[in-house]
Amino acid sequence: MSGIIIEARDIRFRYPRGQEAIRGISFHFRRGEKIALVGPNGAGKSTLLQMFNGMIRPDSGTMLFDNKPMQYDRESLRELRRKVGFVLQNPDRQIIAPTVYQDVAFGPTNLAYTEPEVRQAVTNALRHVGLFGFERRPPHQLSGGEKKRVAIAGVLAMDPDVLVFDEPTSGLDPSGSEDLMELLDELNNEGKTIVISTHDVELAYPWADRAILLADGHIIREDIPDVAFGNPKLVRMAHLSVPTLLELSAELAKRGFAIPDRKPRSVLDMVHIIESQPHGTSVRTSPGTITVCNVDEKNHPEIAAWVKARPGIAVGAMGTRAKQYAAMECIALEFTYGVIDKCILRALRGQDSLILTTSSMTDRVSARVDAYCRESSNAITVVSFNALKKTDTS
Ligand code: ADP
Repeated sequence: MSGIIIEARDIRFRYPRGQEAIRGISFHFRRGEKIALVGPNGAGKSTLLQMFNGMIRPDSGTMLFDNKPMQYDRESLRELRRKVGFVLQNPDRQIIAPTVYQDVAFGPTNLAYTEPEVRQAVTNALRHVGLFGFERRPPHQLSGGEKKRVAIAGVLAMDPDVLVFDEPTSGLDPSGSEDLMELLDELNNEGKTIVISTHDVELAYPWADRAILLADGHIIREDIPDVAFGNPKLVRMAHLSVPTLLELSAELAKRGFAIPDRKPRSVLDMVHIIESQPHGTSVRTSPGTITVCNVDEKNHPEIAAWVKARPGIAVGAMGTRAKQYAAMECIALEFTYGVIDKCILRALRGQDSLILTTSSMTDRVSARVDAYCRESSNAITVVSFNALKKTDTS
């Protein structure tokens, strides 16, 4: 992880005629990190987020971007807001234009891009969020999840370094929330620093690289999530709850289970803890195979027929384009979130799976499977679908 991109030094802020919302806090975000600001209502999360792109200026203390104190003149703010994109909780407040195209084009047009540059930026952004083809649609006719994606595309069109999301999943149903969190992972994978605010500990705990627990305008704790949420007293003080997986691992520890230093962040981690006990009841079978198909590469053989020929296989898709590809090819998806872990769990039961994914995410599959196999002394084979010969796939 490289240099610091956003830093706060002892910042304070009071709303006019209001109480002090931010009470002397300091922190930094590194480039490429996924940060969750977690706190109950009124903790100061929204206020703090608005300081990241200069919408709110602290009364005292300093905000820095790229190691330089933020400047609040018009020109500096314009530049800062290009680099730090902000996605509001309610997309209806962010979307202003009568068509999706015009809305997404707003930022690049304001930045004086030429007409072809604007068109390119809008096309790229819409493709990214899975809304290519929605250009002429009026935003008010879209679903909540689609509106959210338009708002994200509007921010992405300016190619910011940092994306800030206020309560990103608010108003979305569970599957919409999963899709959105996966989009955030995709963007992070492409190098963007992502900051979210949330009061949902179950959402923040497995997702974040670092969690900042905020209450009453103070930072209560800041660390990797299992440490940040590891002290139940502190967590209660912050009016939050301990994530279920951490609570369960604490209970297992009390019952004599050996819990690794890196606490479980997923169901897969938890299964590993349970199965690695000396008297565990795990039944060892020879592991299944995980086949990975990069849908961005056009040279792969016919997937739908390959899947059809293997009735026992489960298919998962990671990322917006991979999910769209599956829909286009009429491939039924079993997993759309937490896909790698779910396929590892299947492999451990001796069953095969196929993961559809895009270029930026392909390496993550092997990395995650390798890490798991090293830790658990299992051997799961990952095969590249794209490298299979056409004859192997009939
Ligand atoms: P959170 O996002 O964690 O719910 P906020 O940043 O919205 O918290 O609010 C922090 C504190 O600032 C709360 O006490 C809230 O009542 C107060 N506050 C927020 N917005 C305003 C405002 N526009 N005017 C006065 N007080 C505000």
